Amino acid sequence: VDKPVQVKLVLLGEAAVGKSSVVMRFVQNDFSENKEPTIGAAFLTQKCRLEDRVLRYEIWDTAGQERFHSLAPMYYRNAQAAVVVYDITKASSLEKAKSWVKELQRQANPNIVIALVGNKLDLVQSPAAAGAAPAGEEAEDEEADDATATPGEGGEQPLPEPEQEGESLRQVPKDEAAAYAQEAGLLFAETSAKTGEGVVEVFTEIAKKIPIE
Ligand code: GDP
Ligand code: MG
Repeated sequence: VDKPVQVKLVLLGEAAVGKSSVVMRFVQNDFSENKEPTIGAAFLTQKCRLEDRVLRYEIWDTAGQERFHSLAPMYYRNAQAAVVVYDITKASSLEKAKSWVKELQRQANPNIVIALVGNKLDLVQSPAAAGAAPAGEEAEDEEADDATATPGEGGEQPLPEPEQEGESLRQVPKDEAAAYAQEAGLLFAETSAKTGEGVVEVFTEIAKKIPIE
């Protein structure tokens, strides 16, 4: 039986974008609303099965706070893969992600496989799926400009500044982030740690790009 190949992977990104949640979804297939912020870094492992081989990820989940920034090189120095996470409902988190990518491309292993991941996809999908709307509130005020969205129901009273819902919460257009990722040579995906959408795929796509020793 083949021994799994060890792959050191580091997660980077602004605080609260969902790094630990993405890892928890991948490793335990679980999600919790009230995750404690990571202090320093957390270490987890998870196997990833491809058609022709098995990898064992050694995952370093770093803290996003600025005061921990100086520790990051310890975690990415020998990493073969990095997942740089931003929150698609927070534009500034993409800027932070870009600065991590730059740092990795300057300082990390030149062959490192980097994935850019826009997390919290559930928040821009239907409010029902997001689970954020208070009980009793229905998803009737969506301002979706998405071509695939259903047309709005007419005849409603305009609501006074409703809580933002659906696509109106999105601050980072998918095609903009994808274009940046392509230009920078990164894998790209949008995920929801909450629903699990896209999470396993990120780690599988990375695994496919890890060279066979
Ligand atoms: P980290 O600081 O990057 O590790 O972020 P955490 O994983 O600690 O998550 C920060 C907050 O965002 C927590 O309250 C999570 O429950 C929440 N969160 C993380 N991922 C998602 C997601 O995909 N969707 C939603 N709705 N919330 C998320
Ligand atoms: Mg964390």
